[in-house]
Amino acid sequence: MALEFLYRQPVKIRFGSGSINSLGEEIKALGASRCLVVCDRFLRSTVDAMQREIPEIAAVFSDVEENPRLSGVIAAAELAREAQVDAIVGIGGGSTMDTAKFTAAIARENADALACFKGETPFPQTRFPMIAVPTTAGTGSEVTQVSVISHGAEKKTINNSVFMPTLAIVDPALTVTVPPRTTMNTGLDAMAHALEGYWSRNHQPISDLTAIEAVRLVLENLETAYLDGSNLAARENMSLAALLGGMSFALPKTAGSHACSYPLSEHYHLPHGEACAFTLDSFVRINADERLTLLCRRVGLSGTDELADRIKALKKLAGLKMTLSDLGEVDLDALVKEAAAHPLMGNNPVAMDEDALRAMFEALR
Ligand code: NAD
Repeated sequence: MALEFLYRQPVKIRFGSGSINSLGEEIKALGASRCLVVCDRFLRSTVDAMQREIPEIAAVFSDVEENPRLSGVIAAAELAREAQVDAIVGIGGGSTMDTAKFTAAIARENADALACFKGETPFPQTRFPMIAVPTTAGTGSEVTQVSVISHGAEKKTINNSVFMPTLAIVDPALTVTVPPRTTMNTGLDAMAHALEGYWSRNHQPISDLTAIEAVRLVLENLETAYLDGSNLAARENMSLAALLGGMSFALPKTAGSHACSYPLSEHYHLPHGEACAFTLDSFVRINADERLTLLCRRVGLSGTDELADRIKALKKLAGLKMTLSDLGEVDLDALVKEAAAHPLMGNNPVAMDEDALRAMFEALR
């Protein structure tokens, strides 16, 4: 078959420990003079200190929750309008960056957030410029056109080019305070992005390359970052792995493990990365083929079984949930049905119907 692909990565990326110090100059370079910084409560004091140094920070919204909600986006957009800002900066984990991306998309034109969320109205054509500053090493949201937002009982992954940040400032030094368990969850999220981008039915050569390098970086650095959070070299490599992981799935999209992660997060309250990791080693075994074996060889592993074993060992090291009994009382029928129906399941290279998913989960009893 002839090789054909379309690749784009429009985000300008500034990477390096201390790169956060360029924030003021980067805001000005966007032509902005009043920006809203979106963060969560943990980062509020850090952002307050930045505000004292950077006069272009006109307002701060710090009410982002984990699994961020549309109500947070609406409140942030309201503040952006009140403060008459001309740019949005998101400093935090995926929850914060996704809130900032949605806010930047709707606030400039005062669009109806709920109608856009439901897909009843298209997102406006013009939006505020947006800077994404990750403080965890996992989601890769700083380079994707994805925003994951919840409303009511629905957690929705919205894929739209309006969410593409204008600039990513990736400063690994910001991640040294991430606690060990979150380091492991988010690091395995980066691994899931790389592997799922690689084995996605829509994979392509450039994303394949970023994926291989991201997997290598996670295998070589996640354990160290987990055991010694102050190890800046490991943190730098994990921030790079997360960035490359984001680039690996941005176009091909994720697959089976992410499809399973939604019901696991929603009904069993696993953080996003832990929910993806729950089935990741199972999918390595299910999706094992020549291409995946090639990836394993390129990262110095003997084959797909060793990759699955390494993922399992990382989960065990951090005490992540690994079996159905770890989840408590499980409604397996509902779990299987929801995972099978998720659109990302169709992206898995091996077709997974309800029977196949049930067998996979049964093996995790
Ligand atoms: P998060 O943003 O929810 O943060 C998790 C916790 O870590 C929070 O309590 C936060 O305060 C804390 N934290 C963040 N930075 C810290 C730091 N430097 N030091 C100490 N604590 C810190 O977690 P996350 O895993 O980064 O993001 C998960 C969210 O991102 C989910 O909603 C998920 O669905 C979404 N997601 C989005 C994309 C995308 O492309 N948009 C991709 C993957 C996941």
